[in-house]
Amino acid sequence: MQLPLGPDPRTQALRRLQDLLVQRFGRIERAAAEWRRPEWVLVQGVIGARTKSQISNAATDRLLRRFGSWEAVADAPLEDLQAELATQTYPNIAAERLKASLTALVERRGSVDLSHLADMDTLAAMRWLEQLPGIGRKIAAGVMNASTLDRRAIVLDGHHTRILQRMGLVPPKANTDRAFEAIMPIMPEEWDGADFDEHHLLMKKLGQTFCRPTAPDCANCLAVSLCATGQRRAPDS
Ligand code: SF4
Repeated sequence: MQLPLGPDPRTQALRRLQDLLVQRFGRIERAAAEWRRPEWVLVQGVIGARTKSQISNAATDRLLRRFGSWEAVADAPLEDLQAELATQTYPNIAAERLKASLTALVERRGSVDLSHLADMDTLAAMRWLEQLPGIGRKIAAGVMNASTLDRRAIVLDGHHTRILQRMGLVPPKANTDRAFEAIMPIMPEEWDGADFDEHHLLMKKLGQTFCRPTAPDCANCLAVSLCATGQRRAPDS
């Protein structure tokens, strides 16, 4: 006889963690409508490596204002894009990746248009996006989740992945792809796309405050009771 399976303790830990994150950092409002178009989210992701979100948001708006359309951005000389992206941490790489990804999109779709993704299953749409130059799992998940497509796809940046590793919710050395495969099946089933988005933004805040890359502040961290590393480093908490 097979015994019924109870809820996965890791899913319960994620629910509890979300409650604690909201208590500590408050609720997070979703971005304005113009920042949630799939094409805008893609561009913001492609130029955003190791750059604060506010800076990348402003640079994305500036590009569209200056060139008038994403197709015109794809056609722009590389030097113009590099100059326009001077605020980014890696302007030259950002410009090259942006030109390559938008050019590939125009070749495949005739314009910078991602409307076909709305008719696709989430994982199939992510695989389609990941065939474009410069688009990895993080950006693909961002396009599917943080845009008006609003899908249940978790965005994993460096902060989020590091916390999941330390908490023992994904393998300790998992890269973004492996962490995504490990965490998606245990995400609370009642969470919708907006909950995924808010969870990711709250995890970023945790990574910027307590669970920093070096010297995590486990003794004062809100997640210590749920965290494998925290229990080793601050066992009395
Ligand atoms: S308890 Fe420590 S390792 Fe765990 S999430 Fe908090 S700061 Fe990070």
